[in-house]
Amino acid sequence: MSTTPEKSLNFIEQIIEADLAAGKNEKRVHTRFPPEPNGYLHIGHAKSICLNFGTAQKYNGRFNLRFDDTNPTKEDTEYVDSIIEDVRWLGGDWEDRLFFASDYFERFYEYAVALIQKGKAYVCDLTGDEIRETRGTPASPGTESPYRNRSVEENLDLFSRMKAGEFPDGAKTLRAKIDMASPNFNLRDPVMYRILHAPHHRTGDQWCIYPMYDWAHGLEDSIEGITHSICTLEFEHHRPLYDWFLDALEIYHPQQIEFARLALNYTVMSKRKLLQLVKERYVSGWDDPRMPTICGLRRRGYTPEAIREFCRRIGVAKFNSTIDVVQLENSLRDDLNKRARRRMGVLRPLKVVIENYPEGTAEQLEAVNNPENEADGTRKIPFSRVIYIEQDDFREEAPKKYYRLTPGREVRLRYAYYITCTGFTKDADGNVTEVRCTYDPATRGGSSPDGRKVQGTIHWVSAEHAVDAEVRLYDRLFTKENPDDPQDPADFKTCLNPASLEAVTGCKLEPSLKEAKRDEHFQFERIGYFLADIDSTPEKPVFNRAVSLRDSWAKQEKKG
Ligand code: ATP
Ligand code: MG
Repeated sequence: MSTTPEKSLNFIEQIIEADLAAGKNEKRVHTRFPPEPNGYLHIGHAKSICLNFGTAQKYNGRFNLRFDDTNPTKEDTEYVDSIIEDVRWLGGDWEDRLFFASDYFERFYEYAVALIQKGKAYVCDLTGDEIRETRGTPASPGTESPYRNRSVEENLDLFSRMKAGEFPDGAKTLRAKIDMASPNFNLRDPVMYRILHAPHHRTGDQWCIYPMYDWAHGLEDSIEGITHSICTLEFEHHRPLYDWFLDALEIYHPQQIEFARLALNYTVMSKRKLLQLVKERYVSGWDDPRMPTICGLRRRGYTPEAIREFCRRIGVAKFNSTIDVVQLENSLRDDLNKRARRRMGVLRPLKVVIENYPEGTAEQLEAVNNPENEADGTRKIPFSRVIYIEQDDFREEAPKKYYRLTPGREVRLRYAYYITCTGFTKDADGNVTEVRCTYDPATRGGSSPDGRKVQGTIHWVSAEHAVDAEVRLYDRLFTKENPDDPQDPADFKTCLNPASLEAVTGCKLEPSLKEAKRDEHFQFERIGYFLADIDSTPEKPVFNRAVSLRDSWAKQEKKG
């Protein structure tokens, strides 16, 4: 039996449970994730996917994936494909309910005709600028369009000619006839359709009028029988319009519910800015492992489980806040700590010769695959006379509390032997090029039969058996906590972190890593969690560090 207390309901679940109790919507729960295919998904979208899919799952409901593809000039099938891949990877399951708003264009058109017939929509000849100028201010009402009182017949005629392509871009719009004096700007006769002679990635040249978001969105939800239309807070003031359209048409009326969008520090989340980073080559692509995109996180080594757990931990709220990216990293650490096999890899190798170890031989030592999971067994790692350790793990003169290798000091080689440093060699520049040690054969496996303790444990790789690899270490993409700050006049690109990627070549890894699969995560002991990059081949392995270990040094030195 689980001892974790049931988490209390979030405010969306409270609404749903009240609806279920009241028997609303025949007790159905049906949610959707409605991306616009104008960019790749990011971690903010993941929050929405987890929320929508998770809620549907929790209440035995349904979940739709729907592309809100009403804006042909910015959309592309490349984005459609990537979004499908990313939602699926995150675990979202829409079964057979993959929809496109563009499939409903004909129905939207019929609904618009119905609104015209009800006297609730009109064709307006004002330009975009004129519409903006006549909107009024928060303190004063807008001015009614001179075209507002066209007859139903004239509106029907003009609207069908708009559709037929008789007018150039921007010459006319279809507007809802609501209230130019409404305190809510969204209700001041909003535009429903604009003329745009642009091909659409799915409907081609079939349409030259395209529906606006507010007009289309509620219809999409209604057509699909969505019960709870969950969106981000900035749509709160659009809800009265969402409701107005559905009420005016007297069609099935889902409920819009707003929640706070996810913001993370040290990154940007706006698709426009992410696109800029890609287009202007500040990153290698949408899937650059430094990007907050789902495909970037995946390539870097994030797991769907970690992202889902992160979304669960941050919860849903009604007010916007910024989440520390460390929380995202911790979710990954927690997940990989349980699952990732331990391996040894040396990033910046320093050669160590074990003087009393026989030349020309090697032995296989046993190492635990995952101390968190005994069932994961052990593996053999080769040990021989010449090994590599991290340059950092040797000091000619050890500072206080430095428990690693230094002349005269004995340390433990993880899973191998105790070694004692007997000397070292330096080059003309004063760099240590080789360390010499002796080993104690009685300490095989890493413990001493006489109970002798050592303070430090270091990792190593047998030189002769090592796999050469490149290891990519990542840091935050921005140096500023809030590069997205709307109050800050400085361009977000001025605070890019020049050290966000460090490609370390000449790394030495234990031999089993040569065959690392693209979906197998590893912990390189003391260094972090890694996944082979898409650039990796058996001839030239490349690993990404997904995340470093928490406090790795402190822990190791205490254990020693
Ligand atoms: P834009 O509309 O400016 O292109 P968007 O980020 O809103 O950008 P959409 O494709 O419209 O992109 O988003 C799809 C869904 O994801 C919407 O329901 C939206 O509310 C949600 N979403 C987008 N960004 C976030 C975020 N940072 N946190 C939570 N949900 C988000
Ligand atoms: Mg949007």
